[in-house]
Amino acid sequence: MEFAIKETPELQELPEAPASEKGKLTSERFAEALSQCKTEAECLDQLLWEELPEREKGARLLAALGFQSKAMRYRDCHATGIPVDCQACGERYFSRYRCTLRFCEFCGPLHFSRFMEKYREPISSFVASQPTRRGRTLARLTFTVRASDRTPHPDEPRRLMKLVRRWFKAMMPGGTLWGCIFAIETGHELNVKHPGRQAGGWNLHIHALYYGPFLNHAEGLELWKRLLGDSGGFRVKQCAGWRKNPDRAVRRALVHHFGYIMKPAAISAERTVALEVLFAGIRRVHGLGCFYRLPKPKREVANARCPNCGQNLPLNLRAWHKSERSPVAGLEAEGRRDSRKLEAEMRRARVFQGGSP
Ligand SMILES: [Zn+2]
Ligand SMILES: [Zn+2]
Repeated sequence: MEFAIKETPELQELPEAPASEKGKLTSERFAEALSQCKTEAECLDQLLWEELPEREKGARLLAALGFQSKAMRYRDCHATGIPVDCQACGERYFSRYRCTLRFCEFCGPLHFSRFMEKYREPISSFVASQPTRRGRTLARLTFTVRASDRTPHPDEPRRLMKLVRRWFKAMMPGGTLWGCIFAIETGHELNVKHPGRQAGGWNLHIHALYYGPFLNHAEGLELWKRLLGDSGGFRVKQCAGWRKNPDRAVRRALVHHFGYIMKPAAISAERTVALEVLFAGIRRVHGLGCFYRLPKPKREVANARCPNCGQNLPLNLRAWHKSERSPVAGLEAEGRRDSRKLEAEMRRARVFQGGSP
């Protein structure tokens, strides 16, 4: 990966809400911001909200909700870049700016690769290194709650993650070896799979990959409902073939079970922003038991290379201040080319020449 994905902490961005605002539901705050943006578009730009490009809508909404810096980053993502000149051959390139917001369509997939990099190898090595597999399982767990039809309050994901921790604490007998990673997510905006479902896809739920003693489903469900103080669901599914090939089972489980959390669950700008606001400042992936603080895999820092001569490009990816980025259209007009895109094209060409991928 060529750049830091960690989100910049933006402490200035969450102004202390006045007492009257505190209890306000996310959906209400959101509706207010949306109507403010619509009015501004009509009065200031003489445009209908619907006519604005999705990115611009997203940026305006973020700003109206108090996330000014995220708004600027989101607006600039992919559409701006910095010039890069190869010191060796003199070719002139540009590199696109990335906002690193988790629900950005350009940046979400990068968070997912980072997640895979962090967990896949350490978990499969751990599982493979255990002296016995008897009496143990590697399983995908899902914890659900009763569906509600509005955007949850940010306290709700926090509460559910706390309950999952308590669930494991109560379920795991003392002295046993177990581990899990879990993540919280919402449903998808497009209901392709379940037409007629409730909650417009807002239903929060938790996915976990678990390794440890076999779980009693009825007991697990009972405990989950008791912790919730409400009805809820709990599912366990053992990962097929994990005893024979833990590496493949872990990879599959991560892709199928966690694939959605990092892929943008949103289609519209409104939904993207609502997710960004709901999860602002919330870490969504956590490790427990022996999956807490897994050994870090060695990261291969892939330097950006010149597609023309192969030399490292002088790319300081941390120095992406707002003033340094300029519109991609302008960079292209200077005759510059997107170095990463060129590199990808060349990689594809090599694959075709080499025959097998
Ligand atoms: Zn070069
Ligand atoms: Zn982005």
